[in-house]
Amino acid sequence: MTSTIEGIRESKCDELGKNNSKICCQFCPSIILNPRAGTLVSREFPLPLIVKKKNDGQSKSETSDPSSVEVEDLKDYWQVDDMFHFENISVTHTVDQIKYLGCADCEVGPVGFHDLTTKINYIALSRVMYKDSN
Ligand SMILES: [Zn+2]
Repeated sequence: MTSTIEGIRESKCDELGKNNSKICCQFCPSIILNPRAGTLVSREFPLPLIVKKKNDGQSKSETSDPSSVEVEDLKDYWQVDDMFHFENISVTHTVDQIKYLGCADCEVGPVGFHDLTTKINYIALSRVMYKDSN
């Protein structure tokens, strides 16, 4: 797992620390960020495991107890300073000062989060796909 993140750091970052390829949803062709829209940052933040809402037409997130949600400790994120820099993004749910972000098309998420106190967005390196633009 660590080697994957290292590989992304090395191959998907330009010399300024920005993403050099398109960032897309892992489950559909939706583009989340264009090249150079995000900056690689280290920030420890536990992100709930990905939920595929539309799988069986049943939404489990409404009924499940929030305290029982499984999280993954992630510390590599693409920082996006402005919500308008996203190509496609949607908010899956809000908890306290955090809005969780998911795919605008297939609603898979969270792939990242929006911090309501700073208005800064973070997309997890390991929750997205990378497509070279040329
Ligand atoms: Zn998607």
